Amino acid sequence: MDFAKEFLVPPDGKIKLADIDPGYKGKNESHASAASEIAGHVQCLAELQYRLYAEGKRSLLIVLQGLDAAGKDGVVRHVISGTNPQGVKVACFKQPTHEELAHDFLWRAHRAAPARGEIMIFNRSHYEDVLVVRVHELVTKSVWSKRYDRIREFEKLLLQAGTHIVKFYLHISPDEQLTRFKQRLDDPQRIWKIRESDYTEREHWPAYVEAYQDALRKTSTRRAPWYVIPSNHKWFRDLAISSILVDTLADMKLQIPKPAVDLHAIRLRFHSAKMEQEKNAPRRERGKPRARTLAHRSRKQRGKA
Ligand code: ADP
Repeated sequence: MDFAKEFLVPPDGKIKLADIDPGYKGKNESHASAASEIAGHVQCLAELQYRLYAEGKRSLLIVLQGLDAAGKDGVVRHVISGTNPQGVKVACFKQPTHEELAHDFLWRAHRAAPARGEIMIFNRSHYEDVLVVRVHELVTKSVWSKRYDRIREFEKLLLQAGTHIVKFYLHISPDEQLTRFKQRLDDPQRIWKIRESDYTEREHWPAYVEAYQDALRKTSTRRAPWYVIPSNHKWFRDLAISSILVDTLADMKLQIPKPAVDLHAIRLRFHSAKMEQEKNAPRRERGKPRARTLAHRSRKQRGKA
């Protein structure tokens, strides 16, 4: 399946979240049948990330958005797990600090944007400023409604600087959210994740759907596309996202750079270093017994005792 084609929000297209089944799972029946495909993608991602890092000219920004318990942390854990932590970073966008609120809404996003060679994952993002902020009327409509254009401009700026952008909305149903809240309540390993706000935010579900629809419609562009990922099945979410990420990085045609040094000269230096090393290495004197191993000695001592 071409996941990118299937789940793309067409630029300026009309998208209705109610028409997209969050429980969709394609041809796969279960995690078991998709597991090897996901593992293959994770391996591929690790290789592509290595190339991105080695090339050091471009970067990738992955935006993850979704309602509470949609699985943003799970994507970070399962999909990006095989990559080298040196080249991958995660920025979590929580309630803005005083310092952040004292700046324009894109300030913190810009500071967290990936450097060349890096993959940066935004776990929530600058989109919160047209989502939670809109739903809770934290600023007036005249303020948030202008932000879509600012976001498009901001992303264009990043694109022009060599940052590729891919954005995922993790689509779950209210039922599935409640099932996950219950799992958190029942599992001592997950109980810490519970927030009272999970339940208050849930009451605003229709307002969030409206805000998300607007954001997806207004900011999905050819070069910074949104994908709506059916996410009731965690393994299907991982399959679709990992596949789209592999395609995105493969399309970048990343090149391992040519060495910056004269290889012939370096080989000569290597050989002379090797000869020097061998010349100075202590030679074993003839007839001298080999040093006994610690294990051997302790065996002997055990025998005496
Ligand atoms: P998460 O749910 O991402 O795992 P938290 O439980 O700490 O982490 O929730 C972070 C909260 O911060 C979310 O409710 C989110 O909507 C909120 N938030 C993020 N950005 C903003 C913003 N710009 N203004 C107000 N609230 C925000």
